[in-house]
Amino acid sequence: MTQIAITIDVEWAHPEVLAYVVNELDTRGLRATFFCTHAGIDVGQHERALHPNYRRQGNSLLRERPEILSVDCELALYEQITSATKAFCPEAIGLRSHHLFWETGLTAVSKRIGIRYTSNSFQPLIRDLKPTMIGRGLIDLPIYYMDHWDLTDSATSLQVADLRMDTAGLKVLDFHPNLIYINARSEAQYLESKQHYHEPEKLLRNRAYGRGIQTLFLELLDLLAARPVKPVLLRETYESTFAITPHAGGGPNCDFTNSSASSLV
Ligand SMILES: [Zn+2]
Repeated sequence: MTQIAITIDVEWAHPEVLAYVVNELDTRGLRATFFCTHAGIDVGQHERALHPNYRRQGNSLLRERPEILSVDCELALYEQITSATKAFCPEAIGLRSHHLFWETGLTAVSKRIGIRYTSNSFQPLIRDLKPTMIGRGLIDLPIYYMDHWDLTDSATSLQVADLRMDTAGLKVLDFHPNLIYINARSEAQYLESKQHYHEPEKLLRNRAYGRGIQTLFLELLDLLAARPVKPVLLRETYESTFAITPHAGGGPNCDFTNSSASSLV
């Protein structure tokens, strides 16, 4: 499988910051999957998926709805947080946790609310990535590149060539609106900008000159827009991985006959 998918973790970004990212995609005729953290996110033709925050500290959902914390077990807490996030994007069939948090109990919770794929494992710049079964009826579409990881690990020189986009395998690219907006060049610059997280004008003043996440993102979009085969939505990767058949008990099931992941079952 060789497919490229652009994904954006919305991360409670200001609407103006998010609109900047959407506009850069739209002007090039590219589509992306947006993992949504909060209500009211309008990304037009793009796909919306879920980006729940399962951490207890610094959690805006739990601050707004403290009654969620009154549940008596961890799984019930996961269920409440996942359901509350699904209410923001009822059509979503995909999920990526904030901080890529995962534990096995989340498999059943996710399936129960209609999630069909996750994009939660991170295998940076690994060739030949494929969808992976993580439970009957649920697959993971691994992340190939993440902008924040690139900053914290100084993994590349922020040049498109370093991403080795011509190698085989699934390539799920993960970007963050604020990192793009400020053209982040270092973790220190990003952390400094966080005090103005919801103030686009101040973020603009914090925008770095020279090569950064924004220049990488825009050059990557230019490259992908010039190719005859365009990036796919993760929903489409899920659909092309499996033939969906009706389940006797209702809800989708997986027929692995058309699956590149069948050998992993
Ligand atoms: Zn996140």
